[in-house]
Amino acid sequence: MSINKQVLVTGGAGFIGSHLIDRLIADGTDVLCVDNFYTGTKPNIYHLANNVHFELIRHDVTFPLYVEVDAIFNLACPASPVHYQHDPIQTTKTSVHGAINLLGLAKRLKCPILQASTSEVYGDPKVNPQREDYWGNVNPIGPRSCYDEGKRCAETLFFDYHRQTGLDVKVARIFNTYGPRMHPNDGRVVSNFIVQALKGEPITLFGDGMQTRSFCYVSDLVDALVRFMAAGPGCHGPMNLGNPVEITIRELAERVVEMTGSQSEIVYRPLPQDDPMQRRPDISLAKRELDWAPSVSLEEGLGKTISYFDGLLSGPDAGSAQ
Ligand code: NAD
Ligand code: UDP
Ligand code: UDP
Repeated sequence: MSINKQVLVTGGAGFIGSHLIDRLIADGTDVLCVDNFYTGTKPNIYHLANNVHFELIRHDVTFPLYVEVDAIFNLACPASPVHYQHDPIQTTKTSVHGAINLLGLAKRLKCPILQASTSEVYGDPKVNPQREDYWGNVNPIGPRSCYDEGKRCAETLFFDYHRQTGLDVKVARIFNTYGPRMHPNDGRVVSNFIVQALKGEPITLFGDGMQTRSFCYVSDLVDALVRFMAAGPGCHGPMNLGNPVEITIRELAERVVEMTGSQSEIVYRPLPQDDPMQRRPDISLAKRELDWAPSVSLEEGLGKTISYFDGLLSGPDAGSAQ
């Protein structure tokens, strides 16, 4: 599905961004990747270094950017709690100043722009599953707020630019996504559990493990992002993108131990402040407007992710080949 001639992907050296770039280039699109390598890595894009359809600019999106492109995917932002809480002011700046700069760029170029928003805009939701018309339950001053409120403000900016300037915006509310190229130390639950299991270290279960999440494999998510961008100027969202199969974190831990054949024991650690108790997307809108639903089961996706981390942990360059 070819979208446009030249597409900008901010955050393109990150986990989702690098997979999106691979997909766009495979579809015959030229890609300009912008990243400041805050959490992204060069190994994620090494394989593109000599590809004539790929270009890289090291740049922080909190500063203005003047380039010429036909469409913009704005993914730049640290996504794991450990990383986005490391420098929370920078996290808010990245979401808010980043959105303003990229929206200003899209306005000048009159091109479509997609925002990687998040299920975190629902906070600790009081309704399950979450539909797009639910306004959420977010603490504005807690340790997660830099991310949640930064993304909420970015959504506000996207819809104000749409209303005020007619810009073709697309707001994707992405739910927990996993797969190869997740950073092994970024603290997210899938990478943590797999790395711990493969190393034979204790599996750190936060709280009683009865909180739930719904995990989407990265190729499914990328497919939805590409379809959303291709959906035309009437389709703005906000749109939930994720896998509606919900499991407890305890069950995830047990599955990872089983699938890796690990001897690791499960140890309990305190639940972090404001950790949401449940999360599951209602994806009716994406099904209807994008004709999309995830196709990779948790079993299959975890298998691929375990193989990736196995390779990464057993050799210095094994991770760059994916
Ligand atoms: P990631 O940390 O792997 O990627 C983020 C990328 O953005 C990195 O390459 C990082 O270096 C770059 N970046 C950060 N700040 C920047 C700045 N100021 N200027 C330029 N580049 C910057 O995370 P990811 O999982 O690939 O997430 C990508 C996007 O999707 C993020 O916007 C995130 O909020 C969103 N998202 C991800 C998930 C998920 O489960 N992975 C869920 C919801 C939303
Ligand atoms: N901007 C940018 N690249 C462009 C055009 C604009 O980075 O090609 C930034 C610029 O820094 C500006 C922001 O986007 O401050 C918002 O642009 P907009 O045109 O909405 O507002 P203004 O320029 O009036 O502040
Ligand atoms: N979690 C856990 N052990 C870990 C890392 C995370 O039990 O080593 C829990 C965390 O408390 C949360 C869930 O797993 O309830 C998902 O955490 P993650 O940081 O991956 O994503 P988010 O909380 O942003 O959805």
